[in-house]
Amino acid sequence: MVSLRPSRADIAVLGGGLNGAALVSALRHSPYSVVLVEPRPPQPPREAWDSRLFAFSPGNVAWLRSLQAWETSDPDGVRCQAVQRMRIHGDGDGCLDFDALDAGLPELAWIAENGRLQACLWRSWRNSPNVRVISTMASHVIWGGSESGGHHLHLINGSSLHARLLVAADGADSWLRQQAGIDLDVEDYRHIGVVANFATERPHRGTAFQWFRPDGVLAWLPLPGNRISMVWSTPPEHAAELRALSPERLAEKVAAAGDQLLGRFTCITPAAGFPLKRRRAREWVRPGLVLLGDAAHTVHPLAGQGVNLGFRDSRLLTSLLAEGGDPGEIGRLTAYAARRREDVASMQLVTGGLKKLFACPDGLSLALRNLGMNLTNHLTPLNQALIRHAIL
Ligand SMILES: Cc1cc2nc3c(=O)[nH]c(=O)nc-3n(C[C@H](O)[C@H](O)[C@H](O)COP(=O)(O)OP(=O)(O)OC[C@H]3O[C@@H](n4cnc5c(N)ncnc54)[C@H](O)[C@@H]3O)c2cc1C
Repeated sequence: MVSLRPSRADIAVLGGGLNGAALVSALRHSPYSVVLVEPRPPQPPREAWDSRLFAFSPGNVAWLRSLQAWETSDPDGVRCQAVQRMRIHGDGDGCLDFDALDAGLPELAWIAENGRLQACLWRSWRNSPNVRVISTMASHVIWGGSESGGHHLHLINGSSLHARLLVAADGADSWLRQQAGIDLDVEDYRHIGVVANFATERPHRGTAFQWFRPDGVLAWLPLPGNRISMVWSTPPEHAAELRALSPERLAEKVAAAGDQLLGRFTCITPAAGFPLKRRRAREWVRPGLVLLGDAAHTVHPLAGQGVNLGFRDSRLLTSLLAEGGDPGEIGRLTAYAARRREDVASMQLVTGGLKKLFACPDGLSLALRNLGMNLTNHLTPLNQALIRHAIL
């Protein structure tokens, strides 16, 4: 039951998706009282495969393990597959290979479902007295002064909450960012990310495949058993065609687009589509306010980095907050924004640049980009530098 008396918290997190939930989980051992406001708690785990599967960097998986959220032995826990190899094909004869063994790593990445990981994160604070969840939405904010001291959040169930730090983890269309009047730089990639899962005839052996094609970027991410998750980032017209296909025709088309490398496919999760945009909020912090995850930034999914960037936001914010004191103090929040900006800007540059590079139809661009891939493949230090960045 939610109390209708005004309540107080050190930190109020709006949004309990992967990013907000990971932050709450990480703060559960902090000296701060934390309230999570989320109208849609995660569904209980199901046997069927989630249509939303993500690649997680080893650094972030190590952090999730330390939060006891990467639970793989529990039947309701995370179902995951290690990525041992990545093979990236250009649209000519270009090819780039990454191998965990060659790089001296146990794996390059992990693939896991959004829903189960979110449920594990929510379970992680079950017995933590300093975490409270309110299953409702906020209706408006009364902002404190520039010296902060906190802000007042009114909720649609009639209650209100005073928090010294408000965290906007409420996704790409962040309500809290809009309430703060923070502008957003947006670039429409003119791509829809079409996702679906398939059972495959042949084993993938822990290999992730990606093709840069004239009709977009196709990725196959390995799942446990003979299964893969597909992300086809493609112009809206082609996405509509793919989504209109029967499951059988879609399976044929996706298998053929990857040269039947894994044999015949059977569709196990229907196709869904997500419009893709690059977004960057003009401000990430104000006194008593911080933006993280998709509320602050989104990137093209071709590098599988969106939520990885968000987890790195939460990792840094948690470590800065570990010093104690006023959680909304602007000096510390400014340091957070300054240190996160470079990681996000470089990922937006690389993913946006690659998308544009492979969209150039002329013959010279085609030859150069495929040559570049082959050169990178043979330059071991460059190849390994790329791996070192991806595993953070
Ligand atoms: C096709 C595709 C493939 C992707 N693949 C990858 C990948 O392989 N690897 C990767 O790292 N990333 C990937 N991403 C990016 C990833 O999906 C996002 O970065 C991530 O899901 C964002 O999580 P979030 O918690 O910030 O936001 P969300 O998941 O959007 O969560 C926001 C939460 O806020 C809640 N909320 C909304 N409004 C309010 C409100 N007013 N008050 C309270 N709560 C509110 C919502 O209910 C929701 O639970 C991919 C994205 C796409 C589209």
